[in-house]
Parts: sequence; structure tokens; C-alpha cells
Amino acid sequence: MHTNPSHGFGTRAIHAGQTPDPSTGAICTPIYQTSTFVQKSPGVIVEEYDYSRAANPTRTALEANIASLEGAEHGLAFSSGVAATGAVIHLLSAGDHVVLCDDVYGGTNRIFHRVFAQLGIEITLVDMTDLEATKAAFQPNTKLVWIETPTNPMLKIVDIPAVTRLAREHGAITAVDNTFCSPYLQNPLSLGADIVCHSTTKYIGGHSDAIGGVLAMNDPNLHKRLKFIQLSEGAVPGIQECFLFLRSTKTLHVRMDRHCDNAMRIAKHLEQHPKVERVIYPGLESHPQHAVARKQMRAFGGMVTIYLKGGLAESRAMLEKVKIFALAESLGGVESLIEHPAIMTHASVPADQRAKLGIADNLVRLSVGIEDCNDLIADLDQAIG
Ligand SMILES: *Cc1c(COP(=O)(O)O)cnc(C)c1O
Repeated sequence: MHTNPSHGFGTRAIHAGQTPDPSTGAICTPIYQTSTFVQKSPGVIVEEYDYSRAANPTRTALEANIASLEGAEHGLAFSSGVAATGAVIHLLSAGDHVVLCDDVYGGTNRIFHRVFAQLGIEITLVDMTDLEATKAAFQPNTKLVWIETPTNPMLKIVDIPAVTRLAREHGAITAVDNTFCSPYLQNPLSLGADIVCHSTTKYIGGHSDAIGGVLAMNDPNLHKRLKFIQLSEGAVPGIQECFLFLRSTKTLHVRMDRHCDNAMRIAKHLEQHPKVERVIYPGLESHPQHAVARKQMRAFGGMVTIYLKGGLAESRAMLEKVKIFALAESLGGVESLIEHPAIMTHASVPADQRAKLGIADNLVRLSVGIEDCNDLIADLDQAIG
């Protein structure tokens, strides 16, 4: 496998985990659309392949590619981001405790509180930008710390080295949901995390056409346990999806550069807009954790959150008027999306928690795509009115 860790990101994005097909010379890793593999003699198999839930060559290429991009020893692919999240939670047993970032993806909040809490997992939600509060959230039975940074939708930045240090002191492992950054902007394992998680549905896939998730890790024992969970639960991606994600990672660095440039320009523009109350973007000096963002992120991503002046009527009017931005959930695709977290992505978060986090009726979240930025700015201006 072309997995030379000393190569730059773009080279690894295009080549890691992939070699031309030895039988035909095909430059792209084939879609090995097969459920099973012929054995030479009972138990004598080619490489590790006996059944595609356990392993499939297209998936192996994707797993090696993502691992390389995260600077990790191992990668594991799943059928969705929440399936990857669930696999990590399955490392725990009843009676274990989790310290959970308070502003996580809605589906992460839901799987912890409405699936795993019933199985005896204890959870403490904490604002991880407050290190004293985070420290106080640990218990003797804390086994996992789940970080998401930047958070969703408030784009708070969690200091990964500081929180992973606290976790180590308490004998807990740390998982970081790195979906908003992609491996191009931030590599949590190099900042002290044990596991990194992505919804590949977002920036890694980047074209809004496939659902998937991945985990990456260095520790061989964690890899072994998570691979066992992947095999046992069977939430593995389809082979076509693996191919699509492999194709997408080849342009990840180029797409991310444009997402970041466009988002920065839009954030600066909206910060001056008379009908915008506040803009949240980690790249702005006005962002409360801008200094932490500069330390651990290479650039500041494609997500911008704004508070409009007014309330639900104003945000509804804007969301109905956009022409290039599409009113839709999800994020990270080449096309720009806009949404209303309180009604859409974060509807499953209890109202009191939403209020505490600041997910108000005048809050609008943008996933800035890679269209021409002047067109995006003009579209937002005409929609805000
Ligand atoms: C979308 C998303 C997930 C869940 O991923 P799916 O692929 O939709 O299951 C998890 N974390 C973050 C930050 C996300 O944006």
C-alpha cells in the first residue's frame, strides 16, 4: 500500500491505501461487489478475506486511506457516523460513566441519552470550554470522554490537549468527533485523543450523496476491540459507498481550502451586516476561543452560525428566500446549505438544553459550499433583506 506517512496531505489523500489493481492495472481501487470469497482449502484464505462483513478489499483501502489522513495506525469504516459513534460507546459496560460535550451533534446526544442510558451508561453533560467544570464532571467510574470540536451548532472550540490530559489523569479514554474539521484541518490523535470519529457523510464524502462513518486509532488493543464490535454488530458500509468515499478523499484538501476561504469571507461580511446580531466563526477574532482554534486547527472550517436581529419570523423569512443556499439538514457538501437548528437538526435536543446552549429562534446555521463566494454573499444579502 502507498501509505508513506512522510508524504504531504494531498499525496496521501490521493494514494494512501491504494495500489493499481495487480490483475488489470486499473488505477482506481475496484468495487469488490462480493459478499464472500473462495477459499483454497478450508480456512486457507487470500489475505484476510473470507466474508465482506468482516473485511472487503474496497473497504480495506478506504480504512487505510482515512487512517493515513488522520496520522493513525488503524482505520475502521461504518455504515454511518452514528454507527461509528455507537461502536465506541459499546466499549463501555453498564455502570460506566461518560463525560459528554454539551453541544454535540443531535444524533450523538440522542444515542447517548435515549439508547445507551437505558443500558446503564451514566452521562454528564458539560461545557468543555470550561476546564474547571470539565474537571469537576469526572467520577471514579468515568471511562470515556466524548469531545466534539468545533461543536454543533454553537461552534465552541474545545481545547483537545487540555481535555485529553484530564481524561488520562482520570484513567478514561477520549474520543473526538472530528467531522466538522475533516482530517485536513485537525488531527486529534496528535493532540492526545485515543479515537477519532468522522461522519464521512459530511466533508470526507463532500458531495451529499452517501452516508458513512469512520474511526481511526493508534492503540492496537483499542483497534482489536473496535474491529470486533464492527464485525459483531455488522454496521459496515456498502461497497459502493466505500468506493465513493475513496474517490472523495482525493479532493478533500482542495475542497476544504475553498470551504474555509468562502466561510471566512462570509463570516466577515455578515459581521458587518446591520440585520445580523452576531456571527460565530472560529476564524474571527471575536470568537471566544479563537486562540485555541489557532493552536489546534490549520484553518477554521466551512460552518458559520449567525444570530439574526429579530426572532422566528426573521429567520423563517431568510430561510424561505435563499436561492443558492439550499434549506436542508446536513453539511460539508460542495453545495451551500442553510438550516434552522431549533426546528431542524436539534429538534431532538430537549428544549431546556437548547435554551441553555443558546439555540434560539433567531439562530441560523450555514454550511458554506465551494460555489463562487460573490454569488453566495449576494444570495445571503437578498435573503436577509
Ligand atoms: C452528521 C454528523 C454525525 C452523524 O453522522 P451520520 O453519518 O449522519 O450518521 C455525527 N457527528 C457530527 C458532527 C455530524 O455532523
